[in-house]
Amino acid sequence: MELTKEYLVSKYSEFNHLIFDDSLPMIPIKLGRSKSALGYLKFRKHKNLFGKVTISGFSITISTKFDLSEQEIEDTLIHEMIHFYIYHNKLEDSSSHGHIFKKMMADINEKYGRKINISYRLTNTGELIPKGRKYLFF
Ligand SMILES: [Zn+2]
Repeated sequence: MELTKEYLVSKYSEFNHLIFDDSLPMIPIKLGRSKSALGYLKFRKHKNLFGKVTISGFSITISTKFDLSEQEIEDTLIHEMIHFYIYHNKLEDSSSHGHIFKKMMADINEKYGRKINISYRLTNTGELIPKGRKYLFF
């Protein structure tokens, strides 16, 4: 389906309400042209004089370079929202897709019948297959 910013913003609000209990602040959502990632969460890290790290300037970018179904677009957006939730709540995960991320992903998949994943393989016909040797991380 054709992707618009308005569509993604309205989906962000919908999932924020449904899944995250309206706990996430609105952040900019952008359309991107990445050929290697379906979506990504961007932010800036600042270190003050005392070495304390703060993170700000969050945005989510969803790539328009893939021909995704509505379900795949939604799952990509929720995937990025889980990353944002973890940073926003200052949870310390074991890696970028660590045990907290995986637990939240599994819970959301189960509770809301989603198919959120960590990586996909893109076949030469442009089809996305969950997991595989050639990964598209996002
Ligand atoms: Zn991710």
